[in-house]
Amino acid sequence: MSRARIVRIAGALVEACPLTGVALYELAWVGHNRLMGEVVRVEGDRAIVQVYEETTGLRVGEPVEPSGRCLGVQLGPGLLGSVLDGVGRPLYRVAAQTGDFIQPGTAAPTLDPSTRYVFTPSVTPGTGVAGGDILGHVEERPGFLHAILAPPDAKGILATIRSGAFTVEESVGSLEDGRELALAHTWPVRDPRPTGPRLPAERPFLTGQRIFDFLFPAAEGGSVTVPGGFGTGKTVIEQSLAKHADCDVVVFVGCGERGNEIAEVLGEFPRLVDARTGRSILERTVLVVNTSNMPVAAREASVYLGITIAEYYRDMGLRVAVLADSLSRWAEALREMGSRLQEIPGEEGYPTYLVNRLGKFYERSGRVALLGRPERTGALTFIGAISPPGGDFSEPVTQAALRVAGTLWALDAALAHQRQFPAVDWETSYSLHAGQLMPWFSRRVGTDWPALRRDTLDLLQRDRDIREIAALVGPGALQDPDRLVLETARTVREAVLGQSAYDPKDAVSSVEKTYLLAALANRLFQAASRALASGAPFETLRLSPARQALLALRDAGPEELDDRAARTAAAVDAIAPGGKAP
Ligand code: ADP
Ligand code: MG
Repeated sequence: MSRARIVRIAGALVEACPLTGVALYELAWVGHNRLMGEVVRVEGDRAIVQVYEETTGLRVGEPVEPSGRCLGVQLGPGLLGSVLDGVGRPLYRVAAQTGDFIQPGTAAPTLDPSTRYVFTPSVTPGTGVAGGDILGHVEERPGFLHAILAPPDAKGILATIRSGAFTVEESVGSLEDGRELALAHTWPVRDPRPTGPRLPAERPFLTGQRIFDFLFPAAEGGSVTVPGGFGTGKTVIEQSLAKHADCDVVVFVGCGERGNEIAEVLGEFPRLVDARTGRSILERTVLVVNTSNMPVAAREASVYLGITIAEYYRDMGLRVAVLADSLSRWAEALREMGSRLQEIPGEEGYPTYLVNRLGKFYERSGRVALLGRPERTGALTFIGAISPPGGDFSEPVTQAALRVAGTLWALDAALAHQRQFPAVDWETSYSLHAGQLMPWFSRRVGTDWPALRRDTLDLLQRDRDIREIAALVGPGALQDPDRLVLETARTVREAVLGQSAYDPKDAVSSVEKTYLLAALANRLFQAASRALASGAPFETLRLSPARQALLALRDAGPEELDDRAARTAAAVDAIAPGGKAP
C-alpha cells in the first residue's frame, strides 16, 4: 500500500490519503516533524487528522503515519508535582530539551524514565491477579504512598514479583502467560477507567469556603458547575480549592486561560504548605496546562487527560478533585474543530453533540467501589468553571453543564462589583446533594447545622423581599422586624458568607469556624427578634458591638477561635436593652 500523504491542510486539521484501516481517535504522526494528531473522521480512503501542535510550516505531500493506538497517558509514580501539556508532555522536561518554546513534534514520556522508585510488593507468586489489584507500593513523594495497580485489563496467575528500586518502565514481575508488570501502565484518555458500582453520596467535598460548605455543599464524588462572567472570581475559587479543599490529590486543568494565571500557580504552589501533611501543596497536585496561546486541539484533549490521571489516583482508594478552568474554552475548541470539519452546527455554532460530550466527562466523577483487591472505595469530584460571554447563563455551554452537574455555584457580576466575595449568587445556586449530606454535618459538626442552613437561606430570602418593598415604599416605611432582617442579613453576608481569598487567617475556614459564625449570627437574630417582640425599639438594640465581634471572629485564626467566639456570644447576649454589656 502506498504511504499516506497530506492532501489538504486547514488550520489544525489535515486530510490524509490514502489512509485506510485507521480507527476513529487513533493517533497519527503528521509530516516530517512527526506532529502528534488524532484521527477525527474517516471517509473511504481518506482520513482527517486533528493535529495537537502548531501546523505552520506543514506542507501538502508530507507523510502521515497512523500509530495503531489512541491518545493515552502513562500512569505511574512521578505524576504528582508535574506540569503537563494537553497531550501529557511534561513541560519542564521538554523545556530542558528544546528551550522555552516546545518544538512541534517533540516527544517526551509523561513520566521521567530515569527516576527509580523503591517498590515493596504486597502480593506473592502463585496468586491470581486481576485488574485493579494493588501489587505493592512505592513512596512517590516523601510521605505519599503510591499504590502500584495491576492494569485494568490484567488477568492471570502471578509468576514472579520483585522488590527493589525500579524505573517506571522496568519489569517488576510477570504473569504466568508472560505478561510483564511495571510500575506504570498506559490508559487511553477518552475511555473511563472501569470501576465497580457507584455509591451514594455520603460525605461533603469540604472546600474551606463557607458559602459552599454551609449553603451549597458539594458531595465528595459530585460534580459542580461554576459559571460566572469575566472577573467574578472563577479562577480565584478554583485556586482556593486547589490549595484548601479536603482531598488527597488535585488535578488542575488550566484550559485556554491566560498564561500568567498558570505562572501564578507555578510560582505560588511550591511555597504553600498543606496543613495536613506539612509539605508543599504542589506535591499533591498535577497541573495540566493549555493556555490560550497553545494549539486549540490539545485544549480539547486536556480535560480528558486530567480526568484520566484523577481516575488513576482514585483507583488507589483516594479522594481526588479535578478542577477545570475553563470549560468554555474547551467547548470553544470543540466548536472550532467542528466548524473546520464542516459539521452541521447547533446552537450558537457549537456542535450538536456538545451536551453529550460534556456529559461524558462529568459522568466520570463519582464515589465508587473499586476493582481489585483489597476492597476499597475512591471518589472523584469534578469542578468545572464556565465563562459565559457577557455572564449570560442562557448560553449553550452553561445550559449543557447545568443539565449534568449536581451542584451549581453561580457567580454574579453585581456581587463581585460590590466586592462581596466569593461572589456566589445564593438565589440561583443549589446543591442537589444538600439533603443527603445534612446527616454528616449534624453528626460531625453540630446537630442544628441543617436548621441553621435553612434559617440562613430564609433570612437571605426575606432580605431580598424586604429590599424590593423598600425600593417601592422607601426605607423609612419599614417596620422594626424588617429593619432587623436587613441589618442581620448584611452581617451574615459580610461575616458568614464573605471570605477573602487573600486573608491568611480566613482564606480557609474549617467547618467548626463556619459553624461558629453561622450559629452566632443566628443567635444574634433570635436575641434581637425577641427583644423587638418584647417591645424594645430597633434603635435601642446594641447590634453594632455584636456585628464587630462577628467580624473579628471571621478574621480569627484557629488558635483565636474559642476566645473570639466567647466574646461574640457575650456581645450577642448583651443586644437587648437591659441585657448586660460585654
Ligand atoms: P474570573 O476568573 O472569573 O475572570 P478572577 O478569579 O480572576 O475572575 O477574579 C477577579 C478578581 O476578583 C480577583 O483578582 C480578585 O481581586 C477578586 N476576587 C475574586 N474572588 C475573591 C475572593 N474570594 N476574595 C477576594 N478577592 C476576590
Ligand atoms: Mg479566570
